[in-house]
Amino acid sequence: MKISEKNICQSCGMPMKNMTDFATDSDGSINTEYCHYCFEDGEFTDRGISLEEKMARNIQIAEKLGMSKATASKLARNTLPKLRRWRKSNKAKQEKK
Ligand SMILES: [Zn+2]
Repeated sequence: MKISEKNICQSCGMPMKNMTDFATDSDGSINTEYCHYCFEDGEFTDRGISLEEKMARNIQIAEKLGMSKATASKLARNTLPKLRRWRKSNKAKQEKK
């Protein structure tokens, strides 16, 4: 399997380059859609989190890695809403209201 830079986590936008970056399904197989921070053993590790909360969390992590808050915040807002996990949940949220 070839891993390209297109492999970004569809939950947090993290680029995944190594096999160990990927999530695992409940049967132990590799799930290339998400990173192992977000998704493990077939479930989201932060199930029920909202997009806003996820963005705030991402910004915190990026800041710890040395990114400025402004850059981290821009990156999160540009990336996360486009990811598969959030496009789906956004729609569900709107229908509920
Ligand atoms: Zn992730």
